[in-house]
Amino acid sequence: MKNEKEITLRGKNIPNPIQYFTDYNFPDYVMAEIRRQGYEAPTPIQAQGWPISLQGRDFVGIAQTGSGKTLGYILPAIVHINHQPYLERGDGPIALILAPTRELAQQILTVAQDFGSSSKIRSTCVFGGAPKGPQIRDLERGVEICIATPGRLIDFLEAGKTNLRRCTYLVLDEADRMLDMGFEPQIRKIVEQIRPDRQTLMWSATWPKEIVDVCQEMEKDTKLRQLLEEIMAEKESKIIVFAETKRKVDDLTRRMRREG
Ligand code: AMP
Repeated sequence: MKNEKEITLRGKNIPNPIQYFTDYNFPDYVMAEIRRQGYEAPTPIQAQGWPISLQGRDFVGIAQTGSGKTLGYILPAIVHINHQPYLERGDGPIALILAPTRELAQQILTVAQDFGSSSKIRSTCVFGGAPKGPQIRDLERGVEICIATPGRLIDFLEAGKTNLRRCTYLVLDEADRMLDMGFEPQIRKIVEQIRPDRQTLMWSATWPKEIVDVCQEMEKDTKLRQLLEEIMAEKESKIIVFAETKRKVDDLTRRMRREG
């Protein structure tokens, strides 16, 4: 299956892909819409992506438009939302999807509405170049899913029109394009406001070099040291290093102390 569909995977304990919609016990409200849309089988990115994201895990998906990636993250978002307490007055969205353009945001909204409406999940999209009033009204009425271009969302966050305190599911769609368009500072500013234990799904047509450095095991020490030096050269820098084991954490701490 993985070969046939040309899926490449990196990571630990990756669940097997599904082959049919019925391989996974999707809720009825999702299956009904899948039937209504006339989809026969999951696309490769859905077949592999759903089992991972439905486990609540973070995920970087490299897939082109046309691969079915939108439903790839909308369906788990809907399941996620249906497991959360209802929104209360003043709550912001549970799922936030950042996208580079108005056109993409609107396409995503269609999928979110098609699949969310049967379980009364409300979605809206906010983007620049359009009047703020209707977007603000949607946010204030309460939406479980907000699809946003970064600039307009920041305007609304700063003006207190919405907040990200309830957000536990974050999607960066076309992340490579957002970086190309210079959105990195805005993305950071938004992501900083979201609780760190959220689930994050990043989608990209290419591997975005700016934020992830994939390297060989033997290169790690040198790269880490370079990175620490670079960051510490900045004023008021603080760094958090995550490692997989307690032992590695001890090793790193000892080495950093030794090297001052
Ligand atoms: P996307 O890559 O999300 O832009 O989706 C591309 C197109 O594929 C959209 O028109 C979707 O309606 C369609 N699509 C998504 N999932 C499936 C599926 N499992 N089977 C057939 N078509 C799909």
